[in-house]
Amino acid sequence: MQLGNFIGGKFCPPHSGAYIDDLNPATEEVIVRIPDSDGQDVDDAVAAAKAAFPAWSRTPAAERSRLLLKLADLIEQNLEELAQLESRDNGKTISLARRLDIPRAVANFRFFGTAILHHGSEAHPMDGVALNYTLRQPLGVAGLISPWNLPLYLLSWKIAPAVASGNTCVAKPSELTPLTANRLAELSLEAGIPAGVINIVHGYGAKAGRALTVHDDVPVISFTGGTVTGAAVATNASPRFKKISLELGGKNPNVIFADADLDDAVATTIRSSFWNQGEICLCGSRIFVERARYDEFLERFIAATKKLKIGDPLDETSDVGALISADHLRKVTGYIELAKREGGSVVCGGNRVDRRGYFVEPAIITGLGVNCRVLQEEIFGPVVTVTPFDGEEEAIAFANSTRYGLAATVWTRDLQRAHRVAAAIDSGTVWINCWLLRDLRVPFGGMRESGVGREGGFESLEFFTETKNICVKL
Ligand code: NAP
Repeated sequence: MQLGNFIGGKFCPPHSGAYIDDLNPATEEVIVRIPDSDGQDVDDAVAAAKAAFPAWSRTPAAERSRLLLKLADLIEQNLEELAQLESRDNGKTISLARRLDIPRAVANFRFFGTAILHHGSEAHPMDGVALNYTLRQPLGVAGLISPWNLPLYLLSWKIAPAVASGNTCVAKPSELTPLTANRLAELSLEAGIPAGVINIVHGYGAKAGRALTVHDDVPVISFTGGTVTGAAVATNASPRFKKISLELGGKNPNVIFADADLDDAVATTIRSSFWNQGEICLCGSRIFVERARYDEFLERFIAATKKLKIGDPLDETSDVGALISADHLRKVTGYIELAKREGGSVVCGGNRVDRRGYFVEPAIITGLGVNCRVLQEEIFGPVVTVTPFDGEEEAIAFANSTRYGLAATVWTRDLQRAHRVAAAIDSGTVWINCWLLRDLRVPFGGMRESGVGREGGFESLEFFTETKNICVKL
């Protein structure tokens, strides 16, 4: 079976006639073949989006809202099918796809579909002399590039605000996970979203993705992916003066003080370490525990990790599924080997699972210093390090010891310390005694090499619009 690009409301073959195999990472079998799109396909998609822009940008906000809410309803009605597609395509467990990925896609369309009804702009009366106000207008064709780890969740996080605020878009999902993007295209037609408003081009980032970032008719790029790719996107898009948002990688610290509720800290750290096989940008991969409770934490954490069931992602009872690809499996197991060479001990897991598919046991590593490569570089798999610390100052220094700054978790019952440490950690998000809770109204993004710009809430609507300063003499 072959998928097409979704351009101008129709599913089209790629100009080149070339296709890419999309594999199920749990079985290594080909699920479907997707277009290996090139610049010509991107040109077609941008042309369709550009043609749809005048009418869509003039469509009243209430009507855009109605259509996006209809799309949200359709995603919800097809939740089970979408969860199965996501699980087969990505290797994530079906329980997580049902609980996290698909409901968040519904929430994204509902949130931005209603946010536009409440989003205004400012007016500044100048003491009877003039009225100065800000006019917000959509930018045109938005280029949206997303990764494979939370395929529909992150695609909807970009499509929903872009389209809600009156832009049309061309999205390039990861070529490793095209299935839910394709189903979203079908559902957008069913919802009645006009042809050309949402376009989806499949294919490799270096070809189709790059073509989007350099396209003269695409004034805005929203990118989520790795830091190295983000630099390439910025290099290509910046000289063309595009508006850019970059949501990049992380090496997130979990700081656990001795006064923490250890039951909660262990249970939550299991999720923040190994959910989605550790393939969530917000997973904590460096765990720092105050020395007085280090042994106790480690013992309980290892025991809880050993209870995780690794297996068929479509099995309701599996806790850990397959990594996304053979390449990624090599990268993750390579870091486990590197940890040993750097002098660390793998105190739990870390072995390949003896079955077909890209499975590896969740790994816990101890005995490494904060400057080792394993604690500096993003692994993006089920591999965490556990390190003791002495006192608040050292905890903050350890947390801040990488180039990244995406998310952090702090565990303590001391209210003042919680606020102090949260403010001192260089991180776009800090969770205190919890993980992965987020109100969609708050700005989201990373510091340092974890990203540039903020998305979320009204900030996303502002990102996808241009402001004009209009001053009327009275
Ligand atoms: P990636 O390799 O950087 O790819 C991301 C997307 O960019 C894919 O669609 C990719 O296509 C495309 N791409 C690759 N080269 C490109 C180029 N030169 N120009 C334009 N697009 C290009 O990232 P990934 O491996 O898919 O995802 C994992 C990374 O994403 C991790 O680093 C993770 O931390 C990060 N992430 C960050 C956030 C956040 O919110 N900060 C959220 C989720 C994930 P191909 O698939 O064909 O390469």
